[in-house]
Amino acid sequence: MLLAPMASHAAAPLALHCGQLFDARSGELRGASTVVVRDGKVAQVLPGRVEQTGAESVDLSGHTCTPGWTDLHVHLGGQSSPASYSEGFRLDDVDFAFRSVGYARKTLMAGFTSVRDLGGTVTPHLRDAINQGLVDGPRIWAAGKSIATTGGHADPTNGYNSELSHLLGPPGPTEGVVNSIDEARQSVRQRYKEGSDVIKITATGGVLSYAKSGDAPQFTVEEVRAIVDTARDYGYRVAAHAHGAEGMKRAVLGGVTSIEHGTYMTDEISGLMKQKGTWYVPTISAGRFVADKAKIEGYFPEVVRAKAARIGAQIQETAGTAYRSGVKIAFGTDMGVGPHGDNAREFVYMVEAGMPAAYALQSATIRAAEVLGVDDQGVIEAGKRADIIAVPGNPLDDIGVVLKVDFVMKDGKVYRRPGDGTAAVAP
Ligand SMILES: [Zn+2]
Repeated sequence: MLLAPMASHAAAPLALHCGQLFDARSGELRGASTVVVRDGKVAQVLPGRVEQTGAESVDLSGHTCTPGWTDLHVHLGGQSSPASYSEGFRLDDVDFAFRSVGYARKTLMAGFTSVRDLGGTVTPHLRDAINQGLVDGPRIWAAGKSIATTGGHADPTNGYNSELSHLLGPPGPTEGVVNSIDEARQSVRQRYKEGSDVIKITATGGVLSYAKSGDAPQFTVEEVRAIVDTARDYGYRVAAHAHGAEGMKRAVLGGVTSIEHGTYMTDEISGLMKQKGTWYVPTISAGRFVADKAKIEGYFPEVVRAKAARIGAQIQETAGTAYRSGVKIAFGTDMGVGPHGDNAREFVYMVEAGMPAAYALQSATIRAAEVLGVDDQGVIEAGKRADIIAVPGNPLDDIGVVLKVDFVMKDGKVYRRPGDGTAAVAP
């Protein structure tokens, strides 16, 4: 990831007086705490309210402070709507880039100080603009173009008529479409050249693509392995979109870091995932969103609607079953399918699926950092990045308060504080 050096935002240190502090390591609340922030980092965490001379105080005594959240599955380069299927033909990446600025800001203001963007050519550029301080947004790990096979989920020419297909010619590894081990390697190297931070593959069909199958396998295990091995050369991890069991199995055997969606996960696959340490990122939000919209006549093209109704409705139940089976779960929403800024609703859905609130919060903090492979965030401890957010009340008693984030700090810079008139983040 290309991180520009952060300007020192706060000349004077800040002292956050938190009513409660969520300890992401233990999953417990620590009670009143004072967090001293200096030069973008947590300098000290002290029990109780301890006044700091020379520091600016922020009163969060009615709040619970938690490490800033990470959403491991977003697409900041767009947001689905009935117009999406024609906009790809009419709009340029520049148009999507302007939209992405608003999406990034909403995401940050909702408490998400980091995201992994799993597919989209605009986002690596958005990431750079955020790192340069030009735009407000979360810290981004960007996949750039997702890697698919011909006709698969993320083949950029799915649904084009024959004339247009002929004019453009078949997409190849540069466009993220591969059909052999060699092309699989080439595609990862192309992503490196373009400045990706992580690799995304579409191991099965998907819901929103203009194609019939949402769950058929779309890579051989050898192709997945070639991608994972090549990705490792560049320090990249691989995230695999997968709905169907066979494609999921091949992705896990091929060595991917995380399975996204995981809709038709079987006991065999969850067993395999536990054995190999594969993460599961459910994205219940996207499932519920598409299942809901599938009820509206004409919202989706017919070929998509059937998939949305069937697959979308299943994900929340799968997430609950996977949790009970002991698969490691990390937080992701697939926002860009649903509305950016509404990411925290996933916590509520996770709790509904049977996960304890503390587990859900850990999935977006300490465990998300583990999925990203970083150890300088996801906990509020001395020396870590000062990514700290706060919600009014106690999220372990009432998970609904996650929708009321009103304090946001990223790298020691305050973007939002209670009572500063920041409008509630509307989806
Ligand atoms: Zn996605």
